[in-house]
Amino acid sequence: MPLTRDTPLTGLPGVGPARGKKLEKLGLRALGDVLDHLPQRYEDRREQYALGDAPVDRPCCVSAVVAETPRVSYVRRGLSLVKIKAVDSTGTVHITFFNQDYIREAVRRGESYIFFGVVERQGNLFAMTNPVFEREGTARTTGLIMPVYPLTAGISNNLLAGIARRAVDECLDGLPEVLPARLRKEHRLCQTQFARKNIHFPDDFEALAIARRRLVFEELFVLTCGLAQLKDRRSAGEGRPVEGSPEDFAALLPFAPTTAQRRAMDDMAADLRSGRAMNRLVQGDVGSGKTAVAAFGAWAAAKNGLQCALMAPTELLAEQHARTMEALLSPAGVRVALLTGSVKGREKKALLSALEAGEIDLVVGTHALFSQGVEYKDLGLVIADEQHRFGVAQRSALAEKGGAVPPHILVMSATPIPRTLALIIYGDLDVSVIDELPPGRFPVTTLLVGEDKRARMYGFVRKQVGEGRQVYIVCPAVEENGGGWEDGPGMDLKAVTAYAAQLRERVFPELRVGFVHGRLKAREKEDVMSAFHRGELDILVSTTVIEVGVDVPNASLMIVENAERFGLSQLHQLRGRVGRGKHQSWCVLVTASRSETARERLKALCATGDGFQIAEEDLRLRGPGDFFGKRQHGLPQLKVADFAADMELLKEARQAAQELIAADPELKKPSHRLLKKKVRELFDENAELFN
Ligand code: ADP
Ligand code: MG
Repeated sequence: MPLTRDTPLTGLPGVGPARGKKLEKLGLRALGDVLDHLPQRYEDRREQYALGDAPVDRPCCVSAVVAETPRVSYVRRGLSLVKIKAVDSTGTVHITFFNQDYIREAVRRGESYIFFGVVERQGNLFAMTNPVFEREGTARTTGLIMPVYPLTAGISNNLLAGIARRAVDECLDGLPEVLPARLRKEHRLCQTQFARKNIHFPDDFEALAIARRRLVFEELFVLTCGLAQLKDRRSAGEGRPVEGSPEDFAALLPFAPTTAQRRAMDDMAADLRSGRAMNRLVQGDVGSGKTAVAAFGAWAAAKNGLQCALMAPTELLAEQHARTMEALLSPAGVRVALLTGSVKGREKKALLSALEAGEIDLVVGTHALFSQGVEYKDLGLVIADEQHRFGVAQRSALAEKGGAVPPHILVMSATPIPRTLALIIYGDLDVSVIDELPPGRFPVTTLLVGEDKRARMYGFVRKQVGEGRQVYIVCPAVEENGGGWEDGPGMDLKAVTAYAAQLRERVFPELRVGFVHGRLKAREKEDVMSAFHRGELDILVSTTVIEVGVDVPNASLMIVENAERFGLSQLHQLRGRVGRGKHQSWCVLVTASRSETARERLKALCATGDGFQIAEEDLRLRGPGDFFGKRQHGLPQLKVADFAADMELLKEARQAAQELIAADPELKKPSHRLLKKKVRELFDENAELFN
C-alpha cells in the first residue's frame, strides 16, 4: 500500500502500539506530522577519512574491515564492554562500546563497516568509543548531513530519522503550496517540497539555509496574515461613539501637554469618535507622560456616560494611578474607585454594587478588575498600563465584558519590548508613539561601580538627601531556595530585609529609611509608598516592586545592588523611576561581578538612555524569554522562527502579509485558499488564545 501523509505511524514497520504511544507524546500520529517535526540540529557525517588522515578534533566517518570476532567483557555489575578491532589500509582501530552487548552479534568478522565518531590517536594506534556504525553499502545514517531531532524516552534518533526519510521520499509529491507563486518569486523563496526535503535531509548547508529561510517566512507570514485579519475585523467592528476634545481636557492638567502627548490624544479622540472600536497602543519611554494620555480617555468616556477600567500590573501601581486620577479627574466630576485583591468584605461588596449601578465612572485596579463577579453597568473603555503580557488573547477576552458592543481598548507600554516583538504581540493594534519627554528634564547619569566605591556611594546618598532629594535602593530578591523572583515561592527575603535593617541602623541612622517588598500586605506597602511619596522618608529600600510606573518626582538617585542579576530592560525601567522631576538625577549600578560580559552589558546601559536600543540589545543577549515567559505573550509558539535571529525576515513577511490582506481581506481568491486554511488552523489550534 502506498504511503501518504495520512498513513498512521503505527502502520510502519518497526512501530508497534507501544512506540506509537511514545511518538504521540511528540505530537506525531501520521506520517505527515513527521514532516513538521523539525531537527533541532545537524551532524555533518559526510566526510570519510582513512584512519591515518582522520582529524582528531571532530567526528568523521572511517571505513574499516572488522579483523576479529568482537569480544565482550563484564567489568562490574552494570558495566560491560564490547571490543572490536578493525583495519583499513593505513592502520588498526580499537573500538569500544559501553553497555551495548547486542553489538557482538551485529558485527561480523571480515565485513566492512562505516564508523562515525572521533578517531583518537595513541602513537600508531587508533581508538574510537561508541561510534555510530553501519554495514558498508547499506549506509543510511552516514555519508550525509544527519538530522538530530527532539526526542522522547524510548524513541531513538535513528528511528525518527528513518520515519522522516520515508515521509520525505514518499509523501512530498503533491504537497500543497501555501505561498502563492508570485510571493515566492518576489521574496526569493524556494518551493515547499525543496524546503521540506532539505530541512530534514539537506544536500549541503547552503540548501539547508534556503530551506530554513522559506519555512521561517511561511511561519511568520501565516501568523501575521492572521493578525492583519484580526486587526481588519476589529477596526471594522462597531464601537460606541465617544466625543471628547483634548483641548478641553488639557485645561484640567497642571501642565501643558507635550506635542507628542497631544498627538496621542488626538489619535485617540479620532478613534473614539469614529463609531468603530478603538484598539490602540500608546508607546512611550518611561517618564514620557502616558498617564495623562490615559486620563484623557477616562475623562472622555465618563463625559459620554460610559465606564472606564484602568488595569495596572501591580497593586502598588494601581494605588498610585488611583491617587493621580482622583486628583486630576474628580474636579471634573469623574467618580474614581480602586479595586485590587486587597479590597475585601463589605468594602468590596459596596464597590461592586456601585460599579454595577453605574455610580463609578473610573475603576482602577489589577487584573481583579476582570475577575468573576465584577459587573459593569456600561463599560466603554479598557486601559491596560504597562502590561507586557496583555496580549491578543487577553484583549479578545475583554472585548466580551462590554456586552453587545465591545469596549474601546487602550494599551500603554514603556519601551522594553523590541520593535519586532511589538509587531507580533501588538500586531493587531494601531500605534501612537510618545517620543518626547516633558520639558526641563535632565537625562539620568548612569554609573557602574564596584564594592570599593561603596563608602563613597553612601556619602553621595547623604549629600543628595542633604539637598532635599530622595533615594531608591533596589536589591534583587535573592533566590537561595530556588524560588522565582519577587513573589515566587521559596524566595529568601532575609537577605533583603537584613540589608534594609543594616542600612537603617548602621549606615544611615540619621536618615529616614523605609522598606517595601512583595510579601508585605498591600496596606503596609501602601503606607510606606505614600510616606515616601509625601517626602516623609529619605530612602526607600525595595525589591523590584517599584519597577514599573512609580512616580516620585523628588527622587533623584537610584541605586541598584547586584545589578548583574537584572535584565537590561528591567534596569532601564528602574532607572526611569528617577529623573522625573526638575533635578539632575543619577542611577548607580553596583556590581561585584568580575565577568567581562556582565560588565559589558551594564556599560551598554551607562552609554545609552534609548529604551528601544536597550531592548534590542537585551533581545540579542538574552532572547525573548526575558520579555515574556513561554507562551505568555498569548501567541502560538513558533516552530522554526527565532525572534532574535529572524527579525529582518519577520519585517519582510509582515509587510507581505499586510499587502496581501489589504488586497484580499477574507482570503477569497482561489490562489489563497490554502493560506486561508493554514491561518484558520493556526488560530484554531490556539482557539483559547484568540477567541
Ligand atoms: P510614564 O509615561 O512613565 O507613565 P508618567 O505619566 O508617570 O510617565 O509621567 C511622568 C511624570 O511627568 C509625572 O510626574 C507627570 O506628572 C509628569 N508629566 C507628564 N506630562 C508632563 C508634561 N507635559 N509636562 C510636565 N510634566 C509632565
Ligand atoms: Mg506609567
